[in-house]
Amino acid sequence: MSEIVDVAVIGAGPYGLSLGAHLAGLGIDFRIFGSPMHTWRTSMPKGMVLKSEGNASDLYDPKGELTLRRFCEERGYPYQDIGLPIPLATFIEYGTAFQSRFVPNLEDRLVTAVMPTRYGFDVHLEDGEVAPARRVIVAAGIRAYEYMPPQLADLPIELASHTAIHVTVDQFIDRDIAVIGGGASAINIAALLHQRGARPTIICRRPKVDYCGPPAPRSLWDRLKEPENGLGTGWRSWACCAMPDVFHAMPEAFRVMVVRKHLPAAPGWTLRAQVDGIVPTIGGARLASADTVGGRVKLRLETADGIRDLVTDHVIAGTGYRVDMRRLAFFGPSILDRLDCVEHTPRLSRNFESSIPGLHFVGTAAANSFGPMLRFAYGAGFASRRVSAHLARSLVRDRTVVGAGGARWSKPANLART
Ligand SMILES: Cc1cc2nc3c(=O)[nH]c(=O)nc-3n(C[C@H](O)[C@H](O)[C@H](O)COP(=O)(O)OP(=O)(O)OC[C@H]3O[C@@H](n4cnc5c(N)ncnc54)[C@H](O)[C@@H]3O)c2cc1C
Repeated sequence: MSEIVDVAVIGAGPYGLSLGAHLAGLGIDFRIFGSPMHTWRTSMPKGMVLKSEGNASDLYDPKGELTLRRFCEERGYPYQDIGLPIPLATFIEYGTAFQSRFVPNLEDRLVTAVMPTRYGFDVHLEDGEVAPARRVIVAAGIRAYEYMPPQLADLPIELASHTAIHVTVDQFIDRDIAVIGGGASAINIAALLHQRGARPTIICRRPKVDYCGPPAPRSLWDRLKEPENGLGTGWRSWACCAMPDVFHAMPEAFRVMVVRKHLPAAPGWTLRAQVDGIVPTIGGARLASADTVGGRVKLRLETADGIRDLVTDHVIAGTGYRVDMRRLAFFGPSILDRLDCVEHTPRLSRNFESSIPGLHFVGTAAANSFGPMLRFAYGAGFASRRVSAHLARSLVRDRTVVGAGGARWSKPANLART
């Protein structure tokens, strides 16, 4: 077995890499596992542009040396803080350059299991190695949580799939494709399908697709009324970005409600010109059932005008992601049975620590604790500063206070209340 390290980080997206850069900056002994920018390389459609503005799409190193702006300047790529969409390819290149510079110790290996031990955790890797660590930070992103509507769950993969598995759509050229959903994932894939010569039809619950508005010149009054922030504009988003600790102190039911309702995954403004009035859309529709008919799929839709059937070659669910700890394949009962959750997401202390001492979560799994900012790359700055500073303080104690039975601390303060 390898030597015990202080920290093991699982994940190498914006959160894992930003945290890795901070841990390295503080000289903390850590290992980090994952394929760099994997979700962005393998689960988003080629040619997509980011919805977040340039100034909200950084990865975070402790001195702010490699912002997206700096990276684009170095490579001669066009960049604006606001109003110039960032191509997915540029963001992936940026994340990869960030990893090479600040997290060169990244191990591109899959974590298969995390088991609690007396000293912390054993992190099992795909090649059979067991990496012992005093603490584990889960930065595993969204990929495990893809949500497939139950009506589609029994159809074979040739007939129904989730947007998460499509980077290109060339297999659908000249075919009828139903796209379920009106959010960013659905509309991104519908645009790509149309562009590549497939025949998409969008089916969404709202009467029509609601696009984000394009950035426009803003007067002083506009800025006072709706201040700019990392999540867009408006006081509510501003508060989510500026005061995550206040959010954390709010009653749990309020936090969960805000995370569910604030900032729905609306498609970016750049998609409107590619989709609106171009791709046929059935609005106000609920998917009632889906059946296989002669190698195709018959969708039964409930609409305001009554029942409507649509026969198509394939259905793509752009139905997003629902965080659920039970979906993380590397957790078994030894973790899940002790993990205190709300709506299957971990309850976290102010230091992103769960009810299992030494087990932390950052990224979208932390949104119900710290707010919607944690669903976006923008939240990685706050999370990595907070977690790394906490670890720098507490690891000294970890090395000295480990006792038999693995009991190291009492419950984190906020969990003791819940
Ligand atoms: C279509 C679409 C568009 C989006 N656009 C934007 C946008 O414009 N701006 C924005 O801020 N956000 C956007 N998002 C949200 C985006 O997914 C999150 O902001 C971002 O992924 C958060 O980063 P992360 O590091 O938490 O997760 P991820 O980027 O998902 O990274 C997770 C990492 O964990 C690794 N991992 C997972 N399981 C294991 C394992 N068992 N072992 C080892 N490694 C593992 C993965 O390989 C990956 O490297 C978009 C999402 C979608 C679906």
